[in-house]
Amino acid sequence: MKIKIIGGGLAGCEAALQLADQGMDVDLWEMRPRVETPAHKTGNLAELVCSNSFKGLGLTSAHGLFKEELKRMGSRLLALAMEARVPAGESLAIDREMFSNAVGQAIENHPRIRLHREEVQTLDPQELTVVATGPLSSDKLTQALFALIGSEKLYFFDSIAPVVELDSLDMEQVFAKNRWDKGEAPDFLNCPLDKDAYFAFVEALVAADTVEPKPFEKGQLFEGCLPVEEMARRGKETLRYGPMRPIGLRHPETGKTPFAVIQLRAENREKTLYNMVGFQTRLKWGTQKKIFAMVPALKEAAFARFGAMHRNTFINSPQVLEPSLRIKGTRIYCAGQLTGAEGYTEAVGTGLYAASMIVAEARGKTLEWPETTCLGSLTRHLTFPNPDFQPMNFNFGLLPKALDAGKKDKKSKQAEACFAALENFRAFPEKMPAP
Ligand SMILES: Cc1cc2nc3c(=O)[nH]c(=O)nc-3n(C[C@H](O)[C@H](O)[C@H](O)COP(=O)(O)OP(=O)(O)OC[C@H]3O[C@@H](n4cnc5c(N)ncnc54)[C@H](O)[C@@H]3O)c2cc1C
Repeated sequence: MKIKIIGGGLAGCEAALQLADQGMDVDLWEMRPRVETPAHKTGNLAELVCSNSFKGLGLTSAHGLFKEELKRMGSRLLALAMEARVPAGESLAIDREMFSNAVGQAIENHPRIRLHREEVQTLDPQELTVVATGPLSSDKLTQALFALIGSEKLYFFDSIAPVVELDSLDMEQVFAKNRWDKGEAPDFLNCPLDKDAYFAFVEALVAADTVEPKPFEKGQLFEGCLPVEEMARRGKETLRYGPMRPIGLRHPETGKTPFAVIQLRAENREKTLYNMVGFQTRLKWGTQKKIFAMVPALKEAAFARFGAMHRNTFINSPQVLEPSLRIKGTRIYCAGQLTGAEGYTEAVGTGLYAASMIVAEARGKTLEWPETTCLGSLTRHLTFPNPDFQPMNFNFGLLPKALDAGKKDKKSKQAEACFAALENFRAFPEKMPAP
């Protein structure tokens, strides 16, 4: 059986590998490097557009639980991400180049996958297809999609954080430490600010020039990924309780907690590049350089990448998709950010989920992910009627409530229910080995 997958990003590559592993012949279409997007920098498959972190691994965190589920269900991209890991305390941060190369090799060497480097501009509702073109889907494909689903266009904004070169930091002003000393080695570099420096920095952010949104981009900001200047505008202390919070970061020499900090996390395995954690911004590039130079450690910082902000397209999934993530009345499935599943892990997860549904259908079976699993609950959120539908990361609030649990052990009970359901569940029942 043949299937067309549009988009060689996180969701498309996961779906392609899963479907090919299950014996389907996959045509994977990726438009880069011929057609660029406003955020991708290379022609690599599965390129991470911003942070290099897949978030936490600890089982008490929502993303840790989610990754454990993906591991048990045999996610191909999660396994490759683990191999490309860079130190980041309890989080899964990766060397993006190494990861993309590994995914590229897995795709190109798979006997059942043919990779086409072309933009797909049309959709045939009767052709078995996965649309995984992501938040920066090309305009033509977006038009074809909206013509097909007849739904109004929806978008909001997302922003990416700057990356600085290690060599350019003033290391006298930096201390290495993980928050609350979690993890084996201190992986984060912290750039402290005293009270005066912090308030001057906030003031400069509030007064700074930002890039004007294009007319078609008039939309709303995603609350989970606000630009720093927007946070600064919401209150003088907002950043100090957000990405610049100093709690758990006592200076190893003075023993004092700084007034505020900017945390840097390694971008690559060589640790020559560092990402400014939570510092998404739409400030003009010259302004970024000028304002970030107010942070003592970043006085002479060289930027390997400036922060930026982009369109983020998604469909009104509850109106458009069946629980299998298939567009109603067609043979076209959707996966990734386009469905409103926000985040890298969610993109990989929905790629795996859509593949499992397609395989089940091809075998004449029905498959229902238990609602206590992360993907079961996330896809319910995506497809359950919701007049105020907005993209969302996976979080504990999506899982069914643990009725017999108090506030304190609520999450661990939800995790237990998830694991119990996974004991008897296989995404690909005929091939998955027992865990
Ligand atoms: C600017 C920005 C920053 C983000 N930062 C983060 C972050 O830090 N952390 C996080 O967890 N999530 C982040 N996200 C959200 C989301 O998790 C990522 O965008 C993620 O990569 C989505 O995966 P995907 O597979 O859906 O799309 P993508 O990974 O973007 O893959 C889609 C692919 O489809 C290709 N394509 C598009 N149109 C066509 C076409 N017509 N024909 C052929 N190919 C096509 C694209 O070139 C791309 O390779 C960010 C999103 C944006 C827009």
